[in-house]
Amino acid sequence: MKKIIISILLLIFSLGIGYQFLDLDIFHQVTAEDLRLKGKVIVLDPGHGGGDHGAQGKAHGTIEKDLNLKVAMNIKKELEKRTDAKVILTRDTDASLLPKIDQKKELQARVDVAKKNHANLYVSIHHDAFTDPSVKGITTHYAPLRLEDRKLAKYVQQAIFNQKIDTNDRGVQGSDYLVLRENSIPAILLELGFISNESDEVRMNSKEFQTKSASGIVDGIIQYLSR
Ligand SMILES: [Zn+2]
Repeated sequence: MKKIIISILLLIFSLGIGYQFLDLDIFHQVTAEDLRLKGKVIVLDPGHGGGDHGAQGKAHGTIEKDLNLKVAMNIKKELEKRTDAKVILTRDTDASLLPKIDQKKELQARVDVAKKNHANLYVSIHHDAFTDPSVKGITTHYAPLRLEDRKLAKYVQQAIFNQKIDTNDRGVQGSDYLVLRENSIPAILLELGFISNESDEVRMNSKEFQTKSASGIVDGIIQYLSR
C-alpha cells in the first residue's frame, strides 16, 4: 500500500515537472483580470518618423512612417478599449525622438522608452519593401534564440491571420534588429505587408485591413500576456 502511494506521488510530481518543462501552463487559470491586463505596460513603436520616411510606395505613394503611426494609434485605441493595460507610444507625431538623425541612437532611444516605463511588452510597427515587386505578405520578427519573444511573435502572427487576411503568411522570423536585441522584455517587430507590392499597398491602406489587423494584434497580445 505504502509503495503504491509513493509511486502515485512520484507520478504526480514528475508530471508537474514535465508540464513545467513543456511550458504548457496547464495549472494557470486565466481570469477576467488576466484578460484585462491590469498593471501591464505595453510600448508600441511606430517605426521611422520626421526626416526618416522609411519605405515609400510607387503605385499609391504610401509613406511608411505615416502608415506606421496610424496603425500604432489604432492598436493603442483597441488595447485601451479592450484592456486596462497602460499603452505608451514611442512617438505620437511625425517626428523622430532625437533631434539629429543618428539611426543607432534613435533606435536605442526607443528601447529606452520601454526601460524607463518598466514595460512588459514591446511591439514595433513597420511596413516592408523589396526590389522584387511580386514579393508580398506579413512577417513578425523576434530576436534570434529568444524563446519568449518567439512565442509572442507566434501568438501575434497567428492572431492576425485568424482575421482572414488576403496576403501571404510569411510566418515568424528570427532577425537581428536593434530594437529587438537591446530590449530586455519580450519584443517583436511587425512588417504588415510590402509597400513595394501593389496589392499589399492597397490592402494596408484599407480601413478593413487596418481594423482587422489591429484586432488580431490585440488578440495575440492578450493571449500571450494572459497565459
Ligand atoms: Zn520600416
